[in-house]
Amino acid sequence: MSDIDRQLVKEIARKVIEELNKQSVSAQSIGTSTGVYDDIEKAIFAAKEAQKIWHNTLKETREKVICALRETMHEHAEAFAHRAHEETGMGRVECKIIKHHNAADATPGMEDLETRSWSGDKGLVVEDYAPYGVIAGITPSTHPIPVLFNSTVIMIASGNSVVFNVHPAAKKVSAFALEIFNKTIQNNGGPADLITMVREPTLQSLNTLMTHPNIPIIAATGGPAVVKAAFDAGKKVIAAGPGNPPVFIDDTADLNLAANHIIEGAAFDNNILCIAEKEIFVVASVFDAFMNAMSRVGAVRLNRRQIEMLTEKAFEKGKDGHFYPSRHYIGKNANVLGRAAGLDLSDDVRVLFGETEFGHLFVQEEQMMPFLPVVKVSDRKEGIRLAVKAEHKFGHTAVIYSNHLETITRFTKAIDTDIVVVNGPSLAGNGPRAGEGYFSHTISSPTGEGICTPRNFARVRRLSIYKSLQIV
Ligand code: NAD
Repeated sequence: MSDIDRQLVKEIARKVIEELNKQSVSAQSIGTSTGVYDDIEKAIFAAKEAQKIWHNTLKETREKVICALRETMHEHAEAFAHRAHEETGMGRVECKIIKHHNAADATPGMEDLETRSWSGDKGLVVEDYAPYGVIAGITPSTHPIPVLFNSTVIMIASGNSVVFNVHPAAKKVSAFALEIFNKTIQNNGGPADLITMVREPTLQSLNTLMTHPNIPIIAATGGPAVVKAAFDAGKKVIAAGPGNPPVFIDDTADLNLAANHIIEGAAFDNNILCIAEKEIFVVASVFDAFMNAMSRVGAVRLNRRQIEMLTEKAFEKGKDGHFYPSRHYIGKNANVLGRAAGLDLSDDVRVLFGETEFGHLFVQEEQMMPFLPVVKVSDRKEGIRLAVKAEHKFGHTAVIYSNHLETITRFTKAIDTDIVVVNGPSLAGNGPRAGEGYFSHTISSPTGEGICTPRNFARVRRLSIYKSLQIV
């Protein structure tokens, strides 16, 4: 078969599938829909139909829908947290409840889509935000519902609909939440199927979604594999990729403050946030004092042998021969990690720590566990150099404790991450709960959008009225 014949057959097959979907989906779209489909093609078709309606829905209604979604998220924060914890086995329920309330309150909405205009001798120009259409949303297992909610709001604000391929390890809680969100959307004047998902997400359904002709843009949140797969689809991608946030502590830092804030950030949800502190570099002259400060605020120090016992269990060899953090230890409580190191600790212990070399797996891998490796560095210059190296050019997040302006400036320039936090917990880098500014669960380092808002999921369109309509 020639390439042209093959393309023709493919196109005819796509049209037949679309026609079949139209018949089976329309019944669902007229009434109410859960948005959860057994077939990814149907999920895409339904979201495409919904988007046509949503695009022409009054902005006032869009605002009402988003407000109602925030209330729904608050109402179900505890149920989502318990279910996510039960299904994924990661993190802590009390932290997840906070994450759900925070996403409900702090996710930017319609107010982000502020129009711009210019008026002058040559006329009037207006810029407004238009939707792309149907967005492919790929969500992680680490915070399945906060990402689902955050993505929904920042994507539908400008008139898009979304088809999600959620992480298989969180498919049940995701379907549960998506049904609830869909009900809220429909009860407040939005169309059925504005957000849809496939009930059994697989790499195949993901591939179909990302390469589908009705999908103009992909929002991929996750590790390096999903970011690569999204780029391979050959479309516009907003990639919220991995991080490995280093913390650098110099000889001018307030060590007690540093120890307190590091524990606050790294203990939160057992260190599964992509912005959370993952490895620490401390200048030799204050190393011992810092280690003592960590012990004083309740972190438990492991010796070299205990660290190696933990490492043996917490990392597994992949098919490529590389060692990866084990799903049995990612996001587990510190006392579970402690058991692997031969210790019997109370659940009050939130963080373990210990001295390692720079090349240690806990330093090099994005480990997402409440164990912090601490590396001694000779001086500020070496500390900055090694922190930059450990960040692996992900461009995500970094933290510094210093009272020396020049060192802070040098660190910030060298590390070049989307977020740099100075003298505070990593949590202060993303939104108003712990810091200032806006918040999002989509931090797009590989594609450069940074902390994403509705604007990042909208096309900017300009109307230029030449030499007319200037009212002054
Ligand atoms: P993950 O990479 O295992 O999964 C993320 C998504 O990618 C899932 O939907 C999964 O099904 C899909 N996926 C996994 N492997 C794939 C492959 N080979 N091809 C195609 N798709 C694939 O991530 P996770 O463990 O669930 O989440 C943690 C990761 O996500 C961390 O790396 C973290 O830094 C990152 N993350 C980043 C942000 C951000 O805003 N930058 C936010 C949350 C999480």
